[in-house]
Amino acid sequence: MLRWTCFFILAVSCFAQFDPEGAHVDLYFPHLADGGPVKDQWQTSFIFVNPHPSIPANVVLSMFADDGQRLSLDLGGGGASVQAVTVPPLGSVTLHSAISFATTVTGYAIASSDLPLQSTVLFRRIMNGVPQQEISAAATLPSTQYVSPATRELGIAIVNIYDVPKNFLITAFDSNGATAGTSVVNLAAHAHSSFDLSDRIPSLPASFTGSVKITPSTQATDEFLAWTLKVDGLVTASLPPGRLEWPISHADRITLVYRKLLAAAPAALAGLDINNVNLNAFGVATLTISPEQIINALGRPGFVQIDLSLSQLISDSPSELAFIVGHELGHVAQLQHGSTLTAADGEHDADLFAMTLMILAGFDPYGGAGALAKLSMASGTPNLVAAMFDDLPDPHGSFNARLSSMMSTLGQACAQSPVSGLCGAYKAVIHPNFPATAPF
Ligand SMILES: [Zn+2]
Repeated sequence: MLRWTCFFILAVSCFAQFDPEGAHVDLYFPHLADGGPVKDQWQTSFIFVNPHPSIPANVVLSMFADDGQRLSLDLGGGGASVQAVTVPPLGSVTLHSAISFATTVTGYAIASSDLPLQSTVLFRRIMNGVPQQEISAAATLPSTQYVSPATRELGIAIVNIYDVPKNFLITAFDSNGATAGTSVVNLAAHAHSSFDLSDRIPSLPASFTGSVKITPSTQATDEFLAWTLKVDGLVTASLPPGRLEWPISHADRITLVYRKLLAAAPAALAGLDINNVNLNAFGVATLTISPEQIINALGRPGFVQIDLSLSQLISDSPSELAFIVGHELGHVAQLQHGSTLTAADGEHDADLFAMTLMILAGFDPYGGAGALAKLSMASGTPNLVAAMFDDLPDPHGSFNARLSSMMSTLGQACAQSPVSGLCGAYKAVIHPNFPATAPF
């Protein structure tokens, strides 16, 4: 029993990539602050933790000033607006701002990583050289709404992520849910603003306790970055993330799923004894996220295309999205390899490759059925799914045929090295109440 337990732990820790909640490849930090007079200074620190057991993460951190222009911030190596770091497997990198500005400078930061990272930003307040307190916040994603507990002195930071000016509405609600005041914040392209709630709604009583909602004031689908901070005199506290979980930030999710699967590809290909395919070399399979108003996905030599509309159809399931992305990566691998990888039929072969990648990357392969079922459902509506979806002449028939063989596909994926050991391990962790006969 002990040996099996050890094997499961080894298998899961070596291959399956489960990430901490909130880990992402696009990391948005809606606020930063550095410097000030010696009597009252701020320091910002960024911490990146790589949960992957074997692959280093390459991160590019970009800093922006309040006006949206690049901000040259000294993070220990002299001033620069872009900082590239590599985070070792299971390692971490911490960057402290050098407190170099004589007047406090504020702004925001955005990081991009080729692997999901857990990331935290710390704000330290230092008075006359003595640290007074520190507040932490996790990196976030853009959203169309933000909700937060509020008092009169609530600290709010907002970022306009568009390259045109946008307006955002701040509404304060009292503890009974009645509107206590509103204010519109106008932000230039890529601009950042930080203020106290009382700066914007001075009519709020000193004892105000309630909540705040931030929304776009003109176009309901406009996304923005936000962060709030509880302030009570000199005492401050972080507040829970308030971005709306729904609707999903699709471009960020597609990128996350794509990069996780890409990281798992070398192990999958090595397990299949395929040496002439390197999906992990960026530029071999580049990701195109298309805004076209029809549902489609493609995998062709050199690139994978995933439509935003397809991610929106799949909606709230990263595992279902992973099946689609993995399937398209399967087609790219087939084209690079010059033949199919595991099965004679190209579509079945790409499905098998997708499920293999999903298991290695820490997604649930049952999501494959969800993705195909949604495509099958949508393909009954004219002009909703591309007539040549995935370059298939008869996508609807293909979805249904693949759906009916999905369980045997899963069984085949679980029978292949390097996935075979993982399937038992995964089943024990993810589906512990499934019967012994289930392949996964
Ligand atoms: Zn296909």
